[in-house]
Amino acid sequence: MTNATGDSAGGIFTKVVHAGTKPEPVTGAIMTPIFQTSTYVQEEPAKHKGYDYSRADNPTREAYESALAAIEHASHALAFASGLAAEQALIQTLDPGSRIIVCDDVYGGTGRLFRRLYAKYNLDFQFLDMSDHAAVKTAATPNTKLIWVETPTNPTMKVIDIAAIAKVAKSTGAILVVDNTFASPIFQSPLKMGADVVVHSTTKYIGGHSDMIGGALMTSNQELFEKLKFVQFAAGAVPSPFECFLFLRSIKTLAVRMHQHQKNALAVAEFLASHKRVRKIYFPGHKSHPQHALACEQMSGFSGMMSFDLDGTYQDVVACIKRLKVFALAESLGGVESLINHPEKMTHASVPEELRRKLGIGPTLLRLSVGIEDAADLIADLKQALG
Ligand SMILES: *Cc1c(COP(=O)(O)O)cnc(C)c1O
Repeated sequence: MTNATGDSAGGIFTKVVHAGTKPEPVTGAIMTPIFQTSTYVQEEPAKHKGYDYSRADNPTREAYESALAAIEHASHALAFASGLAAEQALIQTLDPGSRIIVCDDVYGGTGRLFRRLYAKYNLDFQFLDMSDHAAVKTAATPNTKLIWVETPTNPTMKVIDIAAIAKVAKSTGAILVVDNTFASPIFQSPLKMGADVVVHSTTKYIGGHSDMIGGALMTSNQELFEKLKFVQFAAGAVPSPFECFLFLRSIKTLAVRMHQHQKNALAVAEFLASHKRVRKIYFPGHKSHPQHALACEQMSGFSGMMSFDLDGTYQDVVACIKRLKVFALAESLGGVESLINHPEKMTHASVPEELRRKLGIGPTLLRLSVGIEDAADLIADLKQALG
């Protein structure tokens, strides 16, 4: 069902089930087998069936990558051993001296990768508030090679106008990268809005079961794809065939999971918005969000990600977390089970203190990854914990 551009016929629920999966030619197995092999027998030197070594190519990874391409409307996808390994591949395509403009509230690990690992290789990272896209235009120079957007952002759920930033990128000749982890390919399609490449931490919604670490890049830019494919092969941060099999399996339920995440998140947001101990909620799907209109325009739905600010002290926040029975206190997101996280002490502890203050990540901010349980149970749990 998949054509050359990776787009398969039919709706998204059909696409996630069928994308990338062809019956196995020898036995007819409906599921792509786990080709747990490092090497492949050759008939003559350099005469083989298209596979010579599994770091370069593996049939299970290939099936998974074509599913990844299909769900992001891309002609190509590459799978990596983690989201950060995928991001690193993009950075490794750059020449020393390149400038990269990054949204200021980018995922903490992305900021750490850029500031602590890659800044010393003579790459100039410039962190900017991209809700002001005019500022991006002013900052861009001919030497700006990448513009890096993450939307919605983490944990304050700011929405960045992808189409507007894409215009800036086109006018300066920079590659536009969009980290689409929070929205998932089901609710946001950055390539259709002018982005050149999408990055995912597949650890989150695409994997969806809190049991694997992985990353992916999707693009329809042939030249960029070839550079990235070379980095994947030459640097070697590839997932195992077993993980590729499990990720491919996860994709089949991605659409149903995302719709249940959304349904629950809308109900939880409504509950929190009207609770007297909640000062503010951060959820692009709620009418109180300052960019709700933009969110509705560029997203076709909302995932389970939201944050809220509790009226009280840090001690009140800790007491509230301890009373929760369904929500588990843990980092990460996008799994079937509901999680709560304290960004200041947990996921965002590595963000410089001054920047944390500026972004509004304080002692009373909590982030939720709303799972796919019964909404009534989630609301009851929050209700008793808030007291
Ligand atoms: C988790 C995450 C990453 C990093 O991915 P890993 O799989 O943990 O390496 C990047 N971006 C976002 C938005 C994330 O949530």
